[in-house]
Amino acid sequence: MGFCNSCGRPIVKEDYGTNEDGSLNPEFCKDCYQDGKYTEPDITLTEMIVRKSKEMMEKNPRLPETTATG
Ligand SMILES: [Zn+2]
Repeated sequence: MGFCNSCGRPIVKEDYGTNEDGSLNPEFCKDCYQDGKYTEPDITLTEMIVRKSKEMMEKNPRLPETTATG
């Protein structure tokens, strides 16, 4: 098991992304990386982190912002 280098979620073999030749790419999950390409090529890592911390804030509204972003 590893972690997706793009979104950071834990991934098992079934979640691995795929390379252009169809082989598995254990660096990324299939939501982020398919057929040798990022599924969201325009998003930057910073934007992804901001998006994830916003999601966390929405799921845990009582969590102090310093904890979510820190
Ligand atoms: Zn991912």
